[in-house]
Amino acid sequence: MVFAVATNNQKKLKEIQRILDSFGITAKTLKELNISIEIEENGTTFEENAVIKAKTIAEICGLPTISDDSGLEVDALNGAPGVYTARFAGEQATDDENIDKLLAELADVEKEKRTARFVSAVCLYMPDGRNTVCRGTCEGWIGFERIGDGGFGYDPVFMVEETSYSQMTAEAKDAISHRGSALRQLKEKIGEFI
Ligand code: IMP
Repeated sequence: MVFAVATNNQKKLKEIQRILDSFGITAKTLKELNISIEIEENGTTFEENAVIKAKTIAEICGLPTISDDSGLEVDALNGAPGVYTARFAGEQATDDENIDKLLAELADVEKEKRTARFVSAVCLYMPDGRNTVCRGTCEGWIGFERIGDGGFGYDPVFMVEETSYSQMTAEAKDAISHRGSALRQLKEKIGEFI
């Protein structure tokens, strides 16, 4: 069975493909499917945005489609940036600009109050409209500075105990990450759809 993966974020794509691959699932990228599209993510929850993305692509390519909408909830910021994680420092913000803004907003916040979680909502959307969404989370805290050089996005400042996502091997991150958790839950449900 071939699935489409609804993301243009190449680093997120690599992570999703790596995890699906470990399940024996073949995932086609939008590039491989010759689909070039910017999808407006105007949902108010991770789940809504995941459905918007997977539905759009499933309707274009006619394949079962998997999407991921993810972000950071920082307790000291009352759950922000949430669904605005990718655009925290502005519409076209780079990862570095987003991290700089986050570190600046937490500059006066002590370690015990820097708790946060990464959330991933993954959606499987079938061409006939049947769909399901699974949510995975990973609890951690926001570091005081960047640590490590692997990964992508906010990885250098997202700490699980004393290790940043950036410092983890791919396997170690997948085993505990929000995305790994959401995709493992989705895997258990795929049989109901195929
Ligand atoms: P989305 O593409 O709208 O889901 O945006 C997700 C945002 O969260 C982007 O800024 C990503 O860089 C960030 N993000 C999601 N997952 C991770 C992760 O595993 N590590 C670091 N940043 C992530």
